[in-house]
Amino acid sequence: MQYDAAIIGAGPAGATFARRLAQQSPELKILLLDAQDEGHKKPCGGLLAPDAQKTLAHFDLVLPKSVLADPQIFAVETMDLRTRRVRYYQRYYLNMDRYAFDRWLVSLVPPTVEIVRGRCTAVSRTDGGFVLTVRTAEGARSFTCRCLIGADGARSIVRETFFDRPIYRYVSLQQWFRATDKAFPFYSCIFDPETSESCSWLMHKDGFVIYGGCFEKTNCREAFERQKARLADFLGHDFGELVKTEACLADRPRHWRDFVTGADGVYLIGEAAGFISASSFEGISSAIRSGSALADAFRNVKNTSKITRSYRKKTFSLRCKLFLKIWKRWFMYTPWVRSLIMRSGIESIRVRRSKED
Ligand SMILES: Cc1cc2nc3c(=O)[nH]c(=O)nc-3n(C[C@H](O)[C@H](O)[C@H](O)COP(=O)(O)OP(=O)(O)OC[C@H]3O[C@@H](n4cnc5c(N)ncnc54)[C@H](O)[C@@H]3O)c2cc1C
Repeated sequence: MQYDAAIIGAGPAGATFARRLAQQSPELKILLLDAQDEGHKKPCGGLLAPDAQKTLAHFDLVLPKSVLADPQIFAVETMDLRTRRVRYYQRYYLNMDRYAFDRWLVSLVPPTVEIVRGRCTAVSRTDGGFVLTVRTAEGARSFTCRCLIGADGARSIVRETFFDRPIYRYVSLQQWFRATDKAFPFYSCIFDPETSESCSWLMHKDGFVIYGGCFEKTNCREAFERQKARLADFLGHDFGELVKTEACLADRPRHWRDFVTGADGVYLIGEAAGFISASSFEGISSAIRSGSALADAFRNVKNTSKITRSYRKKTFSLRCKLFLKIWKRWFMYTPWVRSLIMRSGIESIRVRRSKED
């Protein structure tokens, strides 16, 4: 069977594109492939930023309670391990179970879309379309399609095959610990230029304390452990019982050319297109926005060059916004600038611990 569109990856980008395309063109034959399951979950902080909340509101979607995690947070405790300075800033994130969020988005996909669980291991162009080889629980299968959509995240096989090879600069490592009575901040953003050029995070989620960050690929585990020890020293206690360790490759856009939207029947959405914040590594809102923008561009489904132009145009403001994050990164990650901002107390809030009340 030839599909009109085959989507590789059912994260926020792929699930949004599949839902919107099937709603607007129910006559299309759409395939949605996904490798994520209980044993292969996307490592993620699972914080839904205001931008992502606004995007969901735009589609008149409300979040089910089952997707939320405990506790909900109002502020980020920003720590600089080099200067040992701490500041609190108000934040409006929703704390979620990321896997439950992804499953919820997939549950909104109309039943006209065929969902196949499996990992795409190869893609190639043929006359008039594409062939996909997929490893499923039942064995290897092949699918053919007219248009191919890479919604397969940072390690996109579609981007690697048809465009450039992403440079996996970072390994994102995250560990889950059983929460104890030891005092950990509810949500913290940690800067430690000695061990990482990005920020790390510490948060509570449903009875666990999660600590993670992005580290340069070379000696990433050693840098992670060194930062963890420095953080434990700063907090005055260790992390307790380790439950699991997760890891994935990650990258951030550094130039305008790192945003790749696709052409000639192959399109990229979400993190596969490079749509992730260079300053905070937030990407759920960009994934949903780009998935929706491509579905809108598919109104001209018969003409691939029109889709290419329209999708590029529709993501222009998103690309500008993400490009500005590359500049914002300079302010956040240049030690003396950050130190100045934190020292000034601009935008920060005062937190009164109970003994001070
Ligand atoms: C450690 C970490 C923490 C983060 N925390 C946050 C956060 O708190 N808030 C936020 O907004 N963003 C966060 N991000 C960024 C966010 O996770 C991504 O930007 C977002 O998930 C991108 O969505 P996506 O749909 O493009 O890709 P993904 O969510 O990566 O989804 C890709 C999907 O494709 C599937 N897939 C991949 N390859 C194949 C294949 N070959 N065949 C079949 N299926 C395949 C995967 O199983 C997955 O389901 C974080 C990123 C990292 C690395």
